[in-house]
Amino acid sequence: MFEKASRPDLTYASLDRAAHLREDSEALARMRGDADARVLPFAKREPLLTGTDFAGLGWVRADDPLVVGADLIFLGLEGDAPRFAAAIPETEAPEGGTFIEMRSAILSGAFGGDNAAIASGALAMVNWHSTHPRCARCGEKTRMTQGGWRRDCPSCEAAHFPRTDPVVIMLLERDGHCALARNVNFPETLFSCIAGFVEPGECVEEAVRRESFEELGLTLGHVAYVSSQPWPFPMSLMMGCIAETADEAFTLEAAEIAEARWLSRDDVRRLMAGEIADMMAPRKGAIAGTLLDDWVNGRIGFG
Ligand SMILES: [Zn+2]
Repeated sequence: MFEKASRPDLTYASLDRAAHLREDSEALARMRGDADARVLPFAKREPLLTGTDFAGLGWVRADDPLVVGADLIFLGLEGDAPRFAAAIPETEAPEGGTFIEMRSAILSGAFGGDNAAIASGALAMVNWHSTHPRCARCGEKTRMTQGGWRRDCPSCEAAHFPRTDPVVIMLLERDGHCALARNVNFPETLFSCIAGFVEPGECVEEAVRRESFEELGLTLGHVAYVSSQPWPFPMSLMMGCIAETADEAFTLEAAEIAEARWLSRDDVRRLMAGEIADMMAPRKGAIAGTLLDDWVNGRIGFG
């Protein structure tokens, strides 16, 4: 329906996932020993980057002391060259490198493009492993298998797979205006699209309707999917939607929403240009910014 919608940041990473190699333990062992294999280290969940402007990923050789002994997560192939990620203990970055806190670097627009897409997929995996060390069924310690794409329990033999938590985020439209809200946890003047986790038993559209009613008191008409963005903080998938409403009055959920406003396309243009004194626009790297940019430029919308 919205074929002109933009691709959000952090999507379409260039690595070939080569998923068929994950179950091939001989191939995995061979790839770990490959002279062209490279590993992206994460210390405290922060990837190693190189250059002063986050220009490059800090790939190291698989025999680099920084990653020796770490479990390697197979990310895929760059050409024929294997690429892995590894969580390592907190340490000094090697010369010319920096461990960076990814969330703020992505939001500020300082870290984007293909490198950020590769690193964010790797971070979601690192986050999953670090928060799921034990079997959810029996409590025994689990171990990484299939190049990191599964954790197996030696006691009850349960297999555990990487998690992605679905979140809906929606641009709400009324008569040429869109609703932006300030969450109570947001920085002072930041306004964005409302969002919320999809609950068990809900489809995406139901979650959009429920969250819109709970947070803003709006009853929706048509709801449509636009685009999505993996968001590895810690392991979400943001599903961007657009929905229409005839309701104008907000009823705010006090525990979540501090303020909400209707903005025309002109208002949004001024907001994005930093021309509205008491409002800050959603930040660049997040899908809220993509949805808003698509809407203001007429790539999405009900008219
Ligand atoms: Zn178990």
